[in-house]
Amino acid sequence: MDIEEFRKQGYAAIDRICDYYATLEERPVVSQVEPGYLRKLLPESVPEEGEPMEQIAQSFQDDILPGITHWQHPSFFAYFPSNATFESMLGEMYATCVNNPGFNWTCSPAATELEGVVMDWAAKMLGLQEDFLHTSGKGGGVMQTTASDSALTAVVAARSRYQRAHPDISLDKLVVYTTTQTHSLGAKAALVLGLSIRALPVEADDQYALRGEVFKAAVEEDKLKGRHPFILIATVGTTSSGAVDRLDEIVDVGKDYPDIWIHVDAAWAGVALACPEFREQAMLEHINAGAHSFCTNFHKWGLTHFDASTLWVRNRALLTTALDITPEFLRTKAADTGLVIDYRNWHLALGRRFRSLKLWFVLRAYGLSGFQAHIRKGVAQAQLFASLIQQSPYLQIFTPPSLSLVVFRLRDSDEAANRVFFGHLADRADVYLTHTEMNGKFCVRFAVGGVHTEEKHIRHAFEVVEEVAKRTIEERGL
Ligand code: PLP
Repeated sequence: MDIEEFRKQGYAAIDRICDYYATLEERPVVSQVEPGYLRKLLPESVPEEGEPMEQIAQSFQDDILPGITHWQHPSFFAYFPSNATFESMLGEMYATCVNNPGFNWTCSPAATELEGVVMDWAAKMLGLQEDFLHTSGKGGGVMQTTASDSALTAVVAARSRYQRAHPDISLDKLVVYTTTQTHSLGAKAALVLGLSIRALPVEADDQYALRGEVFKAAVEEDKLKGRHPFILIATVGTTSSGAVDRLDEIVDVGKDYPDIWIHVDAAWAGVALACPEFREQAMLEHINAGAHSFCTNFHKWGLTHFDASTLWVRNRALLTTALDITPEFLRTKAADTGLVIDYRNWHLALGRRFRSLKLWFVLRAYGLSGFQAHIRKGVAQAQLFASLIQQSPYLQIFTPPSLSLVVFRLRDSDEAANRVFFGHLADRADVYLTHTEMNGKFCVRFAVGGVHTEEKHIRHAFEVVEEVAKRTIEERGL
């Protein structure tokens, strides 16, 4: 394809994307295809001769789009929001145009330097203290693929720090702490690194948040048994219910065990820190007081398409000490001066995408006030949904609504009825909600935060949910 043909095809692609967004609401939220549908539609091997772009683009329309579940649909309330904005897409186009795997500063100085600037902007926007900023000269931030990668990176750094402090302790004695509500990223990190894991219990009475005394008791018990907890993965906004672990207590307990790294995973909820009114609820003061690392995903509720996981550490030397492997072919004059960052030493992979560009576009285009308005809209919509549930004779709130997440179930009902209720809900194509289970209780989650979601979509979703609840209750004679 030459430049002029790219110009033509590029305009046509933008037109198709605009048409997609203009008709998004008319589409089923959840893809209706059967497993294996696509293989039946596509040829068995690479075409012998190259095909015209119009034909390929038409196949995207005809074959691929039906198999897409529309995460940008205004009635998508499943899992967590996964925002894409036109601003971030435009940033991505430019990043793709200069495609470079900027692992060293020298690979493209702007890619590294913009990431440093944008991570400082984002840290300040979220209220993280100076220690986490590049300008502190000690801490700093890095963009990762996912919160899972961020957590894995934190565990690697924490392990290396612990091993350096205790060279006589063998790896099989080390333990990663999570809670029963931690996302699977904790278990995944332990699995990948061949480490033991201990999921600390949380209680319904504490709204499924980890308490300091539970953390302390576990550490004391493990120490007596010759086991060495070296990292706690705490959560601000658990996936199931939006619980916020009691970082006030945890950080306090942590002072007695300074070798234990506290990583805070705030994958979906962390961007709410941009609004001062949510900072107390999200324990910002205590993150600032005692977390060694903090992660949130702008690619969830943060107006930026996947992938844009942001990880900050208070001491960047702990990342580079753990992860810097520099064969001769990766050495550069700039790095030898010690004046530049080579981001390959801040995460697991070597090559990396120019992720900061899309976040920079978003932060500049929305500004702080636009970003805050988006977060406030999501919280207000979740509150509206929660208030409708509270007024319903068929439904009840299960855990107190947390930011943009509402967890509910049928009023006065058993687990079987709730499973049937959710089964009926899952058959709907016009709204998409997902479920969870907490301490044996089956519930439905309603996760708000879509860029295109308006009040009418919240009200429609509630009407659907209530109608399905009523039908389930009548069917089961409850
Ligand atoms: N942590 C929490 C609290 C989450 O809700 C999620 C996503 O659901 C994750 C981590 C996983 O994020 P990622 O896909 O970026 O690893």
